[in-house]
Amino acid sequence: MAASTTEMHTVLEKNFGYTAFRPNQEEVISALLDNRDVFVLMPTGGGKSLCYQIPALMKNGMAVVVSPLISLMKDQVDSLVSNGISAAFLNSTLSESESADVKRRILDGDLKILYVAPERLMMSSMISLLKKANVSLFAIDEAHCVSEWGHDFRPEYRKLSELRDKFPNVCIAALTATATERVRKDIVHVLRLRDPVIKVSSFNRPNLSYQIVEKKDVMDQLEGYIRKNRNKSGIIYCQSRDAVERLAARLNKLGFSALPYHAGLSDDKRARHQEKFIRDDVDIIVATVAFGMGIDKPDVRFVIHYDLPKNLESYYQETGRGGRDGLECECILFFSRGDWHKIRFLIEKKPSKKERDLAFQQLSQIIGYCESTDCRRNVLLRYFGEDIKEPCNNCDSCFHPRTKVDNTEEARLLLECVNQTGQRFGMTHVVDVLYGARTQKVKDMRHDRLNVHGSGKHISKNEWKRIGNELVQSGYLSVGGDRFPIVKLNPNSRKIMSGELRVELTEAPISRISKGRTVLP
Ligand code: ADP
Ligand code: ZN
Repeated sequence: MAASTTEMHTVLEKNFGYTAFRPNQEEVISALLDNRDVFVLMPTGGGKSLCYQIPALMKNGMAVVVSPLISLMKDQVDSLVSNGISAAFLNSTLSESESADVKRRILDGDLKILYVAPERLMMSSMISLLKKANVSLFAIDEAHCVSEWGHDFRPEYRKLSELRDKFPNVCIAALTATATERVRKDIVHVLRLRDPVIKVSSFNRPNLSYQIVEKKDVMDQLEGYIRKNRNKSGIIYCQSRDAVERLAARLNKLGFSALPYHAGLSDDKRARHQEKFIRDDVDIIVATVAFGMGIDKPDVRFVIHYDLPKNLESYYQETGRGGRDGLECECILFFSRGDWHKIRFLIEKKPSKKERDLAFQQLSQIIGYCESTDCRRNVLLRYFGEDIKEPCNNCDSCFHPRTKVDNTEEARLLLECVNQTGQRFGMTHVVDVLYGARTQKVKDMRHDRLNVHGSGKHISKNEWKRIGNELVQSGYLSVGGDRFPIVKLNPNSRKIMSGELRVELTEAPISRISKGRTVLP
């Protein structure tokens, strides 16, 4: 073991020119050297590639890397080759003779690393070719693509589940930057990882400050902000191409330097706008989510979400493009209930029920984030499975902490209602029962006969939802369910119900962001 630790450092220095490993890299590399399966969750830019590239160089034979992004494949291979590493890729962009050449090199044992698209890897001709080669490990990059619960499911990734049978003795590394607990389980299950070494790096980006602002007169709000931050680089994300065009034009009229970026522009124009942003010829990029993949501009000082992001994972990725140099970056999200309803409407139109359920679940998570009164960073990190209690002092909740009041009685009522309805429903139904509503669902389930029915009439429905949400955000109540979010009791809930634990919640709704609530006129 000691010998290989030294050797690992030598390879790191000699082949990649770095002097120290980043967190978790060493552990992952040594597990792969021991032929163990691994699961690696690291934020973008955390250094996943080295985790499999170094063992690829140290082991006998050739490592096979599966990647869904054809364009990035070529970049990766080019950079390996320029470091003197024998690497190649196989995908649809190669001509027949180029493919034949790569295949010959595989058989000659001439390659240390082969990048391949998933659909190609699982072709029977490819499998038999690889059986003749000596495969040292499989690295599945962007492994969340195997899961229908991820934000980027790719059916061709599903077939990778056959790898284990086809190559029972080759270890598999699954790597991703975006996986929640359920996606993580799915990856381990689909790829049939055997007792994997699991390494999860922190997703905390302390230099990003997170702020949620109520969206009203948003142009004035934006203008004020950008005026105060003149000449700084920033990204503004909008939901639609139209909105991007309009906003970019508007900003230019106001005298700011901004360019649009979205998938409706020609490749050429997109590349030009991106290049100008990177070279500081323009301050602001107004973009749809099409912008960002593979962008590595170090000094982005603000990332603004003009519209609600699709889900928390995207929000994390998009804000993650700020402050790469480690210096301060402000991440501001404009939130309005109006936008929320617009998105609901769009989701309703999706054809498949599965897609709708998933989209609603993701929407309710992002709304939960916006409405939470807890430290934003902690809510975000909790979503990625990190449990942090101390406030970060770098988000709007921490900047303006709000008074807490004892809400133990309310919490007990709500938890009792969850209990009596059998822990099988979402928050809306639970609140309906508490409030004494007689919806069809309440009647069908006979929940109007429960003694909790109507026990919470003294508080408005919205207020109950807020209380429920805060209980979830603070870990006093859990959300589960396969197809739509179901609220469930957890050990903390039991302690509250038995009187062992008291609950303090925020005194008033967040008037700053939640239009139309009690506090606002
Ligand atoms: P990921 O795939 O996790 O997004 P990469 O593997 O592309 O991240 O690595 C991000 C950047 O960090 C790359 O430029 C890479 O060369 C660099 N890097 C990775 N590991 C180290 C290290 N141990 N020391 C210094 N730089 C590193
Ligand atoms: Zn905070």
